[in-house]
Amino acid sequence: MLELQHLKKYYTVGENTTKALDDVSIAFRKQEFVAILGPSGSGKTTMLNMIGGLDRYDSGNLIIEGKSTDTFKDSDWDAYRNNSVGFIFQSYNIIGHLSIIDNVEMGMTLSGVSTVVKKQKAEEALIRVGLKDHMHKRPNQLSGGQMQRVAIARAIANDPEILLADEPTGALDSETSDEIMQLIQELSRERLVIMVTHNPELAHRYADRIIEFADGKIQNDSNPYNGHDEEASFKLKHTKMSYLTALKLSFKNIMTKKGRTFLTVFASSIGIISIAIVLALSNGFQKQIDKTQSDTMASMPITISTVASDTSGAQSALSASKGFSKHHYVEADTSQAEKAQHINQLDNNYLKYVKNISQKDAQNIAITYGTGMNLIKENDGKWGTVKFSNVNPDSQTMDTMGMMSSVTGVGGSVYPIDRNGKQSFLKKNYKVLAGSYPTKKTDIVLIADRDNKVNVSALKNLGIKAKANQKFDYDELVGTSVKLIPNNRFYQKQINGHFLPNPDFNKMAHAQDTQTLKVVGILRVKGKNSDGLLANGIAYSDQLTKTVYNTNKDSDIVKAQAVSPINVITGATIDPATRAQLLTALGGDKTASTIQIYPSNFKKKDNVLKYLDQYNNGKQKSAKIIYTDMAGQVSKLTGGMMDAITYVLVAFAGISLVTSMIMIAIITYTSVLERTKEIGVLKALGARKKDITRVFDAETAILGLGSGIFGVAVAWLATFPINHILESLTDLTNVSQLNPVHAIVLVIISTVLTILGGHIPAKMAAKKDAAIALRSE
Ligand code: ADP
Repeated sequence: MLELQHLKKYYTVGENTTKALDDVSIAFRKQEFVAILGPSGSGKTTMLNMIGGLDRYDSGNLIIEGKSTDTFKDSDWDAYRNNSVGFIFQSYNIIGHLSIIDNVEMGMTLSGVSTVVKKQKAEEALIRVGLKDHMHKRPNQLSGGQMQRVAIARAIANDPEILLADEPTGALDSETSDEIMQLIQELSRERLVIMVTHNPELAHRYADRIIEFADGKIQNDSNPYNGHDEEASFKLKHTKMSYLTALKLSFKNIMTKKGRTFLTVFASSIGIISIAIVLALSNGFQKQIDKTQSDTMASMPITISTVASDTSGAQSALSASKGFSKHHYVEADTSQAEKAQHINQLDNNYLKYVKNISQKDAQNIAITYGTGMNLIKENDGKWGTVKFSNVNPDSQTMDTMGMMSSVTGVGGSVYPIDRNGKQSFLKKNYKVLAGSYPTKKTDIVLIADRDNKVNVSALKNLGIKAKANQKFDYDELVGTSVKLIPNNRFYQKQINGHFLPNPDFNKMAHAQDTQTLKVVGILRVKGKNSDGLLANGIAYSDQLTKTVYNTNKDSDIVKAQAVSPINVITGATIDPATRAQLLTALGGDKTASTIQIYPSNFKKKDNVLKYLDQYNNGKQKSAKIIYTDMAGQVSKLTGGMMDAITYVLVAFAGISLVTSMIMIAIITYTSVLERTKEIGVLKALGARKKDITRVFDAETAILGLGSGIFGVAVAWLATFPINHILESLTDLTNVSQLNPVHAIVLVIISTVLTILGGHIPAKMAAKKDAAIALRSE
């Protein structure tokens, strides 16, 4: 059955070499009960470990059923231990965190026996060793003798040909020892049993053959055997522990030390908690910023004015030469502002281009023309002219005397109308104080600020006699109307060729082609997002200016002014530039003074900008159109800052994650030390190195997953008090928001990192020598 040929095993510690086995040759029968006697340190256990394949011999050969083992690979030895050998130890080596059945089944679990067969065989084995009534107890509820019976059941469950026992009764009282010996003797009827003992009395009473050992050599053999086995075709069934078994084993182990596991999970989750909270906060802040941006900034229009500032030019001016001039003269120069000044040609062509912006990207586009209006109003029974002017500082209009004058932001604003004709802009940003929203192009509204203030000049422009701080009831203003007179009726050609306003206002007011502009409502800003969108004062639709243009473009005064070298009203000589301005004001030229584009939302703004940039492609500098995107400048700043802060905080939190990883590694290492015995037992049962690694990897995976989930859960719970505090401090609601994707990624990171951290100790565990592991206490 088993044959040792010149087997040697030397241990060298420092200078000393111990000859644990010194050229041992012996053969065993297929069925016999062999007792090995000898003093402590004589090499008995060493020989048992060689036979059991727990340790490797230095030289010689071990023949199993006629097959030499000198070509055995690790996996062959693992399979041999699992299939052919059963071990019984002095200290039972029952795995405490597993049930009795699980302990007995472990060898079969490793060799992949099906659950049903496994259970049946394990129960048979337990009945065989007399534990029928104790099968479902926990190992720590058993006596020493019962524990040893479990160990014996485990050793025979897989029905091995060889049973190896190392002082199986060493820890038992004499009565129990007798019972165990009887059991082993009974088992030896079916197989080869080799038992190490230093109790000669027991050996003589039960064993068939007694071998005496001393100094690594056989001194005496009571029943020698010289037979040789034929080379048998003996097959080994290789072992493999499934990941599920590894997880189950580790989970059960973890469950036996709940307190410590909780502390470990808690401590190592701190990294995850801090990262999760940082992410939740930055996520929330970003959302807040985005929301504010799309709320506030989407309502900030992209503005294109006739006069723009070309910042690219200003920048190159900054990088002026650092040295000093060596010239002996001074040079006339324009100011930086002038250099940066860029005149946008907002002609018909460009207006058409702008109107082609996708409706999805920009709902509202407001175009302000330089066109002036001829307005008159009746006051105390007397008619007089009034004036509107554009909010745009560079726009010019006619005053009562028909003189050109520059106006600064006190007149009318143009509000945008949706391109599908609906009135969403005013409804979204302004609420009605009195009257209603405008519905017709001849409807005018008054825009009031938060304090219900309306610009006094705007009121005066409407022909209302207003003084600063004067208070008006709403109905004093709502319903106020002015008359809009076409050029041809307003201006009369004089004999000298000049034009003058018709003095018969009354007649003009009631003429057929006169339109009535009526103040239909007083509107007030809805919230801070609408502040400053329209200047407080008069607002009217851009349809109105368009109508005025269409009425006046072919009027007599326009035609006359277009060809005249003088101002046709005053008679003053003018240059071509002034004439162009005059023509615009008279309605002869449709050049826009300002275009305001209101993107549908913050993201759509990019499309609009891209579209506007496209226009400039390949154009000369002077033909380019420069726009102002206030919202973009603000958001660029906040977005970048938030990112930077998040990176820094995540980096800090990452340090704590690494710390927890190191901690998990230490804890795994401690666990490895603690479970050394278990590693030995698993190896004795045929577990491969890989399986041992798997067990510890499974343990760290459980811990990592646990701390990941725990950390994310705590971080999520923490968002509630954090939000509460932030709300009371800053007014911002629901700032901290844990993104579910972040949560899942963090759990994965935690699991992967802890497996990595625990993998080195797990490898160390796998490398542990089975024989040494079993010797450890
Ligand atoms: P026994 O079982 O007869 O008490 P052992 O087989 O345990 O004896 O040990 C035989 C000798 O080998 C002893 O001197 C022991 O110290 C030595 N020995 C056993 N294992 C090792 C080891 N791993 N390293 C060094 N020496 C060892």
